[in-house]
Amino acid sequence: MIIRKTAAEVEKMRRSGLLVWEVLQRVTGMIKEGVTTMDLEVTAERMIRDAGARPAFKGYYSPAAGNRFPYVLCTSVNDEIIHGMPNAKRVLKAGDVVSIDTGAQLDGYFGDSSVTIPVGEVSDEVKRLLAVTAEALELGIKQARPGNRLFDISSAIEQHVVSNGFSVVREYVGHGIGSRLHEEPQVPNYVDRRSENPRLKPGMVLAIEPMVNAGRPDCKVLSDRWTAVTVDGKYSAHFEHTVAVTENGPWVLTRP
Ligand code: MG
Ligand code: MG
Repeated sequence: MIIRKTAAEVEKMRRSGLLVWEVLQRVTGMIKEGVTTMDLEVTAERMIRDAGARPAFKGYYSPAAGNRFPYVLCTSVNDEIIHGMPNAKRVLKAGDVVSIDTGAQLDGYFGDSSVTIPVGEVSDEVKRLLAVTAEALELGIKQARPGNRLFDISSAIEQHVVSNGFSVVREYVGHGIGSRLHEEPQVPNYVDRRSENPRLKPGMVLAIEPMVNAGRPDCKVLSDRWTAVTVDGKYSAHFEHTVAVTENGPWVLTRP
């Protein structure tokens, strides 16, 4: 069942969304050569706690992993697609890209957002991967309006990615979000005929999050049971916003 939010609930999600935005602003501002992904984690956790919020990911149980995620950030470097773990030994270097994904629960409601940032100078191909993924997210967001269907979002993302020669990850998808981090519906970044294609209505709130691989779409999970990586070892990018469907169109809750 898709839970539609009242205007008051969406306002609460706006507050958690802006907190997530602030955290991502701070943390992405720290990214440079020599910084470790654990440095980013420490800053993010302090900010979330200081705001009186609860980190969405730390302690999140995954049946697939069989345990709880131990960090407030997912930091996914280069060929890591999502769910990478902060590590004091992971020193960022020029040419890397790092996806920072985080969520927070404030006053009962969640926000969830991610961004992928280059470290120092990266290749033109990697610049293009980041640009196309960010553009795909914006094109998907534009479709999050009443009267459209869910696949209008999926299709906009998929077409942009594929027409630029990259590929969409299929094993992981976006999601509804509210008083739980993951709610119905699933929001695939491709048109999945086996999946539900509901009509979009005001009060639906969706985490739209294209995961785009430079090479093949195939992914696998590392022995830590969380980190998803590309099978071909090529880079992957991930951008995400929490978006409310309103009478007036999409409202991106995770940016000002
Ligand atoms: Mg996320
Ligand atoms: Mg998400």
